[in-house]
Amino acid sequence: MAFISTRGGGPVSAPEAIVRGIAPDGGLYIPVSLPGLARADFDALAAMAYPARAARVLGLMLDGFTEEELLPMARAAYSRFADPAVAPVKKLAGRRFVLELFHGPTMAFKDMALQFLPRLMTASARKQGETREIAILTATSGDTGKAALEGFRDVPGTSVNVFYPLGGVSAVQERQMVTSQGRNVHVTAVKGNFDDAQTGVKALFGDPDFIAEMNRMGKTLSSANSINLGRLAPQVAYYLSACADLLSRGEITWEEGVNVCVPTGNFGNILAAWYARRMGAPIRRLICASNQNDVLTDFIRTGVYDRRRPFHKTMSPSMDILISSNLERFLWELAQGDTAQVTAWMDSLKRDGRYEITDQQKAMLKDVFYGGCADDARTAVAIARLWREEGCLTDPHTAVAFSVAEDYRKETGDEAPMLVVSTASPYKFAADVAAAIQVPVTDDAFAAAEALEAVTRVPAPDQVAQLRSLPVLHTRICEKDRMGEAVLAGFTE
Ligand SMILES: *Cc1c(COP(=O)(O)O)cnc(C)c1O
Repeated sequence: MAFISTRGGGPVSAPEAIVRGIAPDGGLYIPVSLPGLARADFDALAAMAYPARAARVLGLMLDGFTEEELLPMARAAYSRFADPAVAPVKKLAGRRFVLELFHGPTMAFKDMALQFLPRLMTASARKQGETREIAILTATSGDTGKAALEGFRDVPGTSVNVFYPLGGVSAVQERQMVTSQGRNVHVTAVKGNFDDAQTGVKALFGDPDFIAEMNRMGKTLSSANSINLGRLAPQVAYYLSACADLLSRGEITWEEGVNVCVPTGNFGNILAAWYARRMGAPIRRLICASNQNDVLTDFIRTGVYDRRRPFHKTMSPSMDILISSNLERFLWELAQGDTAQVTAWMDSLKRDGRYEITDQQKAMLKDVFYGGCADDARTAVAIARLWREEGCLTDPHTAVAFSVAEDYRKETGDEAPMLVVSTASPYKFAADVAAAIQVPVTDDAFAAAEALEAVTRVPAPDQVAQLRSLPVLHTRICEKDRMGEAVLAGFTE
């Protein structure tokens, strides 16, 4: 199967798309065609352990990789997950289910893909004849950085440099990053905000002197960004896996199917659900849940994408986003492969901060997607109700999804089974979760986690206690225009 760019370039093989990350024309790589799964294929998936399911799905999606070679990679990728099912589906009242994606080493769903990506990337590089070390450079607002550090930690032939805004991430997130272990990991705090760090990384990718210096050191640059095909494909696997579980347990029928509600920021996770649907998963509507940053809600309801609005800092920070980069892949579908149209929309977004799709495209979009949002007050109410009424402790991102799933049922009367995607452990955001269920807390995130565990008796992941005692290994701070020097210093120390 070949991959082409949403802006017209290509086609390239899966290994090439994974090594490149973004297409040279600035577009995102999309599959020219997708494999189809029949009912019996879901029965087969249900009989397998999670790594075998992932290897089967990725073997179907990625040309140049066989299921046999993917299986040991998948086993290694998911060996550090606390739940043996890796991505378990749990049942709640009212035909609702939760897909738990937070049992990996960093307690957020990004591990599902970022534990796999380094293995896909090194294998892809070998297939491409690349012998240099792959040096990953990433800016993070919190969750991605730690997931990348854990994913690439001690992976031969790679190194990873993460930049985070000094004072711009949560206490737990900062502690997770500065205590990172591994011979090939580097963490630097940037004096600036997330945009400064992001702009700095982008500048390094375009800096010929820096690239030449890296090449002299035997390194080539790459990115672990969520637009990488190697992050998207492992996400498709867990939707097919969840549907296989629900079908085999008799919780859903092939005919009726299941609605899926995803807490959304960059549109990567929900896009994977859409690909799973295209590959034959019995998924009905895709419910896109946003926090107060409701640019996607408006887009799905009106067909106008308009980023010119205030940016809100919320208690679900991983969804505080106004430009959802993975949406470009769905726009290509809406435009039915018209890459000039996609390019025009993206130019218009850059130039005017907005674009609008046609009436026919609006109808196509609404046929599959429903968009809704919940602010912090409603999120806190959802956390409290889920805990009080169902004994289900949820993090703020997941609680946004529960709120919107309820709105969807009220507004449409569609009472079909509902799968809500849970993207983080409540302990990663313990202070806000504790406050929402009225556990008295101080500002200290670790004290909040202890109090939450004492009151709820929901066991905290081992990482929480470990984080407190791990030594701080990374103390480098740099000016926002000196990030290249920080990278080189890290390599020569
Ligand atoms: C990254 C993240 C999201 C948003 O996922 P997208 O793929 O960017 O839409 C939601 N919840 C959590 C906890 C995250 O870390």
